[in-house]
Amino acid sequence: MSRIALLSEAVACQVAAGEVVERPASVVKELVENSLDAQATRIEVLIRKGGNSSIRVVDNGIGMDRDDALLCLERHATSKIKTGADLMAIHTLGFRGEALPSIASVSRFRLATRERGALVGSEVLVNAGKIEAVRDCGEAEGTQIEVRSLFYNLPARRKFLRTENTEANHVEHVLYLQAVGHPQTGFVFLNDERLVYQLPPGQTLRERIRDLAGAPLVAELLEVPEEEVAGIRVRGFMGRAGVSRSSRQQQIIFLNGRPVENSTMNFALREGYHTALMKGQHPVTFLFLDMDPAAVDVNVHPAKREVRFRDPAHVREVIVEIARRTLETDRASWTKTFTAPAPRSVPLPDFTMPLALPVEDLVLRRELAPPIPSPAVREPLPAQPFPEPPRPAPLPPPQPRPASEFKIHGILGKLYILMENATGLVLVDQHAAHERILFEEMSRRMESEGVPTQRLLLPFTLQVPPKDADWLTENLDVMNRAGIGLEPFGGGTFKIDALPQFLKATDPSQMLRDMIDELRETSAQTSKLRLGEDMIAKTVCRHAVKANDVLREPECLRLIQDLLACDLPYTCPHGRPTMIQLSYPELEKKFGRKA
Ligand code: ADP
Ligand code: MG
Repeated sequence: MSRIALLSEAVACQVAAGEVVERPASVVKELVENSLDAQATRIEVLIRKGGNSSIRVVDNGIGMDRDDALLCLERHATSKIKTGADLMAIHTLGFRGEALPSIASVSRFRLATRERGALVGSEVLVNAGKIEAVRDCGEAEGTQIEVRSLFYNLPARRKFLRTENTEANHVEHVLYLQAVGHPQTGFVFLNDERLVYQLPPGQTLRERIRDLAGAPLVAELLEVPEEEVAGIRVRGFMGRAGVSRSSRQQQIIFLNGRPVENSTMNFALREGYHTALMKGQHPVTFLFLDMDPAAVDVNVHPAKREVRFRDPAHVREVIVEIARRTLETDRASWTKTFTAPAPRSVPLPDFTMPLALPVEDLVLRRELAPPIPSPAVREPLPAQPFPEPPRPAPLPPPQPRPASEFKIHGILGKLYILMENATGLVLVDQHAAHERILFEEMSRRMESEGVPTQRLLLPFTLQVPPKDADWLTENLDVMNRAGIGLEPFGGGTFKIDALPQFLKATDPSQMLRDMIDELRETSAQTSKLRLGEDMIAKTVCRHAVKANDVLREPECLRLIQDLLACDLPYTCPHGRPTMIQLSYPELEKKFGRKA
């Protein structure tokens, strides 16, 4: 007896709906994408009871004629692609021709649409996939779709809907993404009659982010100027060093106009921020990437949120590069607000010191004159502002001081250097600042000279799984450069006979294993650098000046100067901020002088 039967159209639609329509937010996503594909400049979204009760999306796009209004409800009916070849180069948000029939098969559905310039429009009513009525209507040009009682015919699915609040939050996130992605389009969002957003059309990306996320966040963003990096066009904004969130909600990446999630890109961002981000935190990005649609597959999942790259390594390098470059652009603006009081005309001394330096040597390394009193003699700071140091007799006429020059006022709580600059009050965490200075100093030296190693009296063996063994064998020179003496014995066994001089690990085998794990995740280009940097970051903390180490004024000055000379002065190597600024406008606000 034959057992195979074709599913009825209605059941087939419901099966498809299981993939496309998960919850109200997925309905909103599909409908808004359709409106955007229909060139709408204004999209209004209304939900009731988190969308569980009803969802309405109204647009002013191109609309549909009567035939299309019916055809769009058929499965695999789309105006967006025609041939299989078109799949390789998708330029619209939709293309599967599945959303409308799927949604209509699991709800009470009403479509009202009118083509631009048409005398009348069409209205189609559908209940659980069955067309109930088709008639003329007099709605405005554009398209309106209303979806009521989602999953009313599928009680099992309806049970999976969460509270109204949770569903509304999902809808809001979907709209947030769409609104960021399309600042040219106006959006209105009403949740149970409450106006959540009203975003005018024709905004710039900066204006749109300001309206959605607030001006304070915008002030923390760096612009990624539009340019092409190795075949990928990039533009957008990303948070400056130290700006982070504990979730990825604001780590937004658009790929060819679509908000996407992809672990390659997440890793790449982390790597690009590297020491500018605290462990476990995520960067804030509004990043737009455009690349050859043939190099990326968006047809992985019906919701199209996930993407697959032909060449993930390439995408990764580009993102790491953009993050690095962008973070470094902040330097220029930073130096503008912090000019060192004394010009540094003395040439840098030669370095012949061991890597594990006493604190003072590094703090004082950049200038040899004027002689600094031995830092071993530590005195508490005077409560008064520091007196000007005595100057040699014949002085050149005083240069006008730049407005950005900073002035040190003292030390708070034996930890924070208190100073002012042109913009207001500045607090520097002396320990974090010193960590950053040591870190960059050691990284530079490691790059040029390699890491001094120490032969072990008792070499030990390290046993690793085959995959790691391959990686290690390929990267022997990298490991050696990082001061790790490593010799393969075959079968996943390695002899370790030297370790970096400055490394004091209690369990070197475990440390090496962790290091291998982490390094395998990083891209080929950066891994060499990372290897040393991670070790350094772990050790500098111990060598840096601590809270409670009382610094004298010239030492503070040197510390700040050295910090400002760093490539990434704003955070310590663990991603914590080195300085906090409180601008005059902020102070005025706090004192109620200004609204
Ligand atoms: P897809 O978007 O993948 O093509 P859909 O089922 O979402 O599939 O939509 C089917 C078709 O209906 C679209 O290709 C489009 O031609 C038409 N359509 C849907 N929504 C709108 C809209 N808001 N305005 C104009 N046309 C629309
Ligand atoms: Mg669609």
